[in-house]
Amino acid sequence: MGQGDSELILTDSAAVLIDAGEQSAANDILADLQKYGVTKLDWIIGTHPHADHIGGFPKILDYAAAYDDLTIENVMVPALPDDMVPTTRTYENFLDGVEKNGLSLTQAVSTTIDLGSASLEIIPSPGEDYSSLNDYSICTYLTCGSTGFFFTGDASKPEENDLLSSGTLDHVHPDVLKVG
Ligand SMILES: [Zn+2]
Repeated sequence: MGQGDSELILTDSAAVLIDAGEQSAANDILADLQKYGVTKLDWIIGTHPHADHIGGFPKILDYAAAYDDLTIENVMVPALPDDMVPTTRTYENFLDGVEKNGLSLTQAVSTTIDLGSASLEIIPSPGEDYSSLNDYSICTYLTCGSTGFFFTGDASKPEENDLLSSGTLDHVHPDVLKVG
C-alpha cells in the first residue's frame, strides 16, 4: 500500500481497519473494501495521529458519510496529553470526518474486542510523558485460533520498554510481528 501503514482485519462477522496510510492510500483502501464486500467497519483505529497512519481516514470517513454502502461504527484513538494533540490539517480533516459520521472518538483503554472468529486485544500506550507521538501508539494483539498477530503502530524504544517492563506483553506470543 506504499508509504505508511494500514491493516484490514476481516473475520466471519467483523471488520476492523487499523490505520489508513497516507492520504493517497484512501482510494486503494476503499477499493479493497469493495472487493471484499465490506459494508461495515466495526472499528477504525488510528494507532497515533501521524499523517502516514491517519492520512487516508478523512477520505474514507467522507465516503462513509456520503454513501450507503459503507458504515463506520466506532473510531479509536490513543489518549494524548493536551500538548501532544496535533493541530495539523490532516488531523482536523480526520476530526471533521468523524463528526460527519455522527461519531465521537473512543480513547483506547485495555480491553478485548470480540470479532467473532478472532479477538483483538487493545494495548494502550502505558506512558504519559513521551516526547514522540510514535510512543503513544495503540498496540493491538489479534488472535485467530492459535495464531497471533501483534501490531505496534510506530512504537519505539521508550514505549516498547515500558510495555515490556509493565508485564503487559507477558501473554503476547505473536506468530507475526508488525513493527513500526
Ligand atoms: Zn508515526
